[in-house]
Amino acid sequence: MSVFAIHPFATPSDAQALRGEVRAFLAEHLPDSAPARRTNCWAVLDPDFSRKLGEAGFIGMLWPRRYGGHERDPLERYIVLEELLAAGAPVGSHWIADRQTGPLLLRYGTEAQRRKYLPGMARGELFACIGLSEPGAGSDLANIRTSAMRVDGGWRLNGQKVWTTNAHDAAVMLTLVRTEAGSERREGLSQFLVDLDLPGVEVRPIIDLAGHHEFNEVFFDDAEVPDGALVGVEGEGWTQATAELALERSGPERYLSSHVLLASLIDAAQPEPDAVLAGVIGRLTAELWTLRQMSMSVAAKLASGQDPMVEAAVVKDLGNNYEQALPIAIQAALGCEAQLADGSALADMLAMLLQSSPSFSLRGGTREIMRGIIARGLGLR
Ligand SMILES: Cc1cc2nc3c(=O)[nH]c(=O)nc-3n(C[C@H](O)[C@H](O)[C@H](O)COP(=O)(O)OP(=O)(O)OC[C@H]3O[C@@H](n4cnc5c(N)ncnc54)[C@H](O)[C@@H]3O)c2cc1C
Repeated sequence: MSVFAIHPFATPSDAQALRGEVRAFLAEHLPDSAPARRTNCWAVLDPDFSRKLGEAGFIGMLWPRRYGGHERDPLERYIVLEELLAAGAPVGSHWIADRQTGPLLLRYGTEAQRRKYLPGMARGELFACIGLSEPGAGSDLANIRTSAMRVDGGWRLNGQKVWTTNAHDAAVMLTLVRTEAGSERREGLSQFLVDLDLPGVEVRPIIDLAGHHEFNEVFFDDAEVPDGALVGVEGEGWTQATAELALERSGPERYLSSHVLLASLIDAAQPEPDAVLAGVIGRLTAELWTLRQMSMSVAAKLASGQDPMVEAAVVKDLGNNYEQALPIAIQAALGCEAQLADGSALADMLAMLLQSSPSFSLRGGTREIMRGIIARGLGLR
């Protein structure tokens, strides 16, 4: 049983200087996006912006210099991420490689894999996607059926992944597959880095209800990968893949991905907003600040080599609640059907978030699964 603990943390002493650097970068390079694109900005792809961010040293910030990284402090990286999200910057292209695939390669990858992938990721030129979910295995991830069988010099993959965010923009997928025929559940699973341009790999778009193309299906039809594509230890895929999840769940994107809406509301409010609006702004800001303290504390724990699985699940669950309540509370405070049709930037953002925020508590693991992890971690089930 793990113990739930959120500790205070020390931000780096020159945090303000770093914020200034990021703001200066954004003043020069932030694209003039439509308001709706700036909400849920973490899902917006802009390879050109990612490349500029890489050039400025804001991707792979914690990675060793020999792999193109910058050896910065984890809370410095956190500050950069929150500035980018708060500004609504289009960070979707490189986000997964920076947050998850790169760190996993540093932990489990071979020297050859690190040299092949990390420098391009840190330059903001090589993007990655996550191949976990399958049609019969979402929450129940241990049910995956996609297989890799040994062949001469490598492995042959067959099966299907689904809901693969950004596979259409990515060069490589870190995927979890079954390498031991007849194995069940968490046994006999391994991770592979699959280059998505290989013969036998096909990426097909899924267009969501709002008409956006964010995720895909990825099919493997006798796709052959070399031995060097195996990540870490054969058969240890479950442990390795779940180690990724605390990285995936606790970051500032879980409560700041639609921050532009709150910032715009504050900008639009008069200096003396009415009591209802003032109350909504005050309550949302207080919740935001609490989430920030918790999320930064988890970042500090991760950086010190701990595995704060329960704390990360708490941040994700509370962050999802906050982000889903945000557009509803703002709509109610503005008294709002008419606003949705008035064509203002605020109305566009609100309309976008009312459509997309229901999915926030699915991506990265559903609310029920997060609460199951928390209950188990606290010894309640
Ligand atoms: C925007 C978005 C992006 C995504 N990106 C990726 C990606 O890049 N890569 C990837 O691999 N996947 C991705 N996913 C998939 C996501 O991780 C899954 O949708 C999620 O794990 C749920 O799986 P499912 O859709 O199969 O639903 P199911 O697992 O079928 O769940 C359906 C419902 O049943 C509930 N439920 C299931 N099991 C239990 C249980 N044991 N106890 C209580 N309730 C339960 C769930 O909470 C949910 O409400 C993405 C999803 C979204 C929405």
